[in-house]
Amino acid sequence: MRMNIFVANLVAWTFLLAGTHLSWAGLKVVTTTTDLASIAKEVGGSLIEVQALVKGYQDPHQIQPKPSYMVKMNRADLLIYQGLDLEIGWLPILIDGARNPGIRLGQSGHLDASVRILPLEVPVGEVDRSMGDIHPYGNPHYHLDPENGFIIAQSIFNKLSELDPANSPQYKANLQQFRKRLEGKIKQWKDRMTPFKGAQIVTYHKLWSYFTNRFELRVFDTVETKPGIPPTTTHLVKLADQMNQKKIKLIVQATYYKSEFADILAGKTGGTALALPAFVGGTPEAKDYFTLFDTIIDKLTKVLKPAS
Ligand SMILES: [Zn+2]
Repeated sequence: MRMNIFVANLVAWTFLLAGTHLSWAGLKVVTTTTDLASIAKEVGGSLIEVQALVKGYQDPHQIQPKPSYMVKMNRADLLIYQGLDLEIGWLPILIDGARNPGIRLGQSGHLDASVRILPLEVPVGEVDRSMGDIHPYGNPHYHLDPENGFIIAQSIFNKLSELDPANSPQYKANLQQFRKRLEGKIKQWKDRMTPFKGAQIVTYHKLWSYFTNRFELRVFDTVETKPGIPPTTTHLVKLADQMNQKKIKLIVQATYYKSEFADILAGKTGGTALALPAFVGGTPEAKDYFTLFDTIIDKLTKVLKPAS
């Protein structure tokens, strides 16, 4: 009799565990970057579970492929990545290692979020390694133009509707809500940046091109001599001279870069080296796609001077 109770309990437990395991019926989405995760959450709402592989304070050009990433990707219904070769150094290895045929290139669980984006800085002519870590399809940092948020959200909506057509009306409603909120915020952000139109800055990497393009700042030069390659002393000295001549006082870089080179330039020009979050989670205040721009613009407007 006792034995039977024990067996009955065991059976009950087994069902309970199976139930826990199966309780999540929504789509499992894995993104490379946190900005894509944030936008996917807006569109998918409570119908999807989203995980980003890269933290917002990590450099997405340089990620070590880890088995834990493969485990997440193994269970995913959908992989969303930034594309334009941003993740080329590590994502293909992870896709191979994940043993999940559904998320491979050409399969329905694979979404390159750059497909509908108009890229900036597409190199003309041959690209080779002597040019540094240059991105042959154009600058991949398009999420820093908030207007591209609409395009990313639309692509995610299309994909979620394809994978889960029954919930398409809910995804559509979420998309419309996101669009409306983003429209309002972009108007606010543009208003806050208007006084600084035409102001010149120096950036560490060519990371801010989409942002400066949208908000009409001018990037005089980068601290890096070539993309992905730290500056030479000759370049730093020349850049400091030019900044002094042109009275450029602001050096902007993502929080994940070491600040030493920007600090040297700031010292030589009496300027400011400003660390900005380049992705959601880059600083604690940048909690989602909206507060990412709130934070960037808060920090910029404190130190920018109107263009003279
Ligand atoms: Zn880059």
